Amino acid sequence: MLLRLRDPLNPADLDAVCSACEGLGFRARVLTVGERSVQLLEVEGDGDAARLKSVLEDYLAVAGVVDDAGARELVLKAGADSETVVRVGDAVFGGGHAALIGGPCSVQDADSLLEIARAVRAAGATLLRGGAHKPRSSPYAFQGLGADALRLLGDVSAEVGLPVVTEIMEPSDIDGMLDVCAMFQVGSRNMANAPLLRELGKAGKPVLLKRGMAATAREFLLAAEYVLAEGNERVVLCERGIRGFDNATRNVLDVGTVAYLKRTTHLPVIVDPSHAAGRADLVRPLARAGIAVGADGLLVEVHPRPLEARSDARQALGLDAFADVASDMRLLIELDGRHFSQPSSQKTPTP
Ligand code: PEP
Ligand code: MN
Repeated sequence: MLLRLRDPLNPADLDAVCSACEGLGFRARVLTVGERSVQLLEVEGDGDAARLKSVLEDYLAVAGVVDDAGARELVLKAGADSETVVRVGDAVFGGGHAALIGGPCSVQDADSLLEIARAVRAAGATLLRGGAHKPRSSPYAFQGLGADALRLLGDVSAEVGLPVVTEIMEPSDIDGMLDVCAMFQVGSRNMANAPLLRELGKAGKPVLLKRGMAATAREFLLAAEYVLAEGNERVVLCERGIRGFDNATRNVLDVGTVAYLKRTTHLPVIVDPSHAAGRADLVRPLARAGIAVGADGLLVEVHPRPLEARSDARQALGLDAFADVASDMRLLIELDGRHFSQPSSQKTPTP
């Protein structure tokens, strides 16, 4: 690995970098190049090069990495074709497969949840979403039904035969949710919650990681890296819109970054048009845009009577509108020569 050293260079700062290299099992050697005496640091050894690169970037003496010698984070593609496929029950994300997730923003009662689950499955969804613990912007807004919602999700999942993806906010909740939850959702507001990400890495279940509302692509990828670094590769990234200056839509669906991520990481990338749009009438076109740009799936909020939804009512699709999104998605995926995940005829939820 080759690093460019800062000019002027403080000898104490240089010593600090060299000892950091030694501490990680590398040897460091200063090279002086050219008439302007550009100083480079050549680092060699058999240690963990990706860790070395991240550590050295924080040192004052280091102006930049000239050549990282192929040291790359686990989330990055090893080759142009490398793709991780994440399977959750019948839902397959990545490697030419795409899956549809549907459900309410938050679980509010048994009847509506059952009605929604049956309808989204009939339309072609292979995973049921629904918040039990809701990270609302206001502490006074509906926070979700918690344990009661988890019980409802478990019952409806078994009845309808759809595995459940639901949001987790506390590492201490993981164990209690393992029975119900086939996939853990990490919400935008928790994307950078390192202790939560580490514990999800250890839990080993699939993780749906939503992009923070003002997170760069690099910050998003490094959040996923926390999960992968603990040995869990089953991570699906979800672009859900980023903050813009215009409140005509709730967020800005960043399709450019979806395309960028598909080229950068081997992890599947899906799109949530509901939180990006913030209004039901824009969900369908954004869903189409997401699939057209290469997303491996969609996450869509739905409610049989959208105005009765206890959270995110304005963006909830009715059941018929959800079926339209599902049929668009199936068509576009097939047009692209990819596979749309189908719910199997048997009811076999797999928590
Ligand atoms: C949600 O999926 O209901 C949610 C809270 O999404 P986000 O974390 O993207 O705001
Ligand atoms: Mn929501």
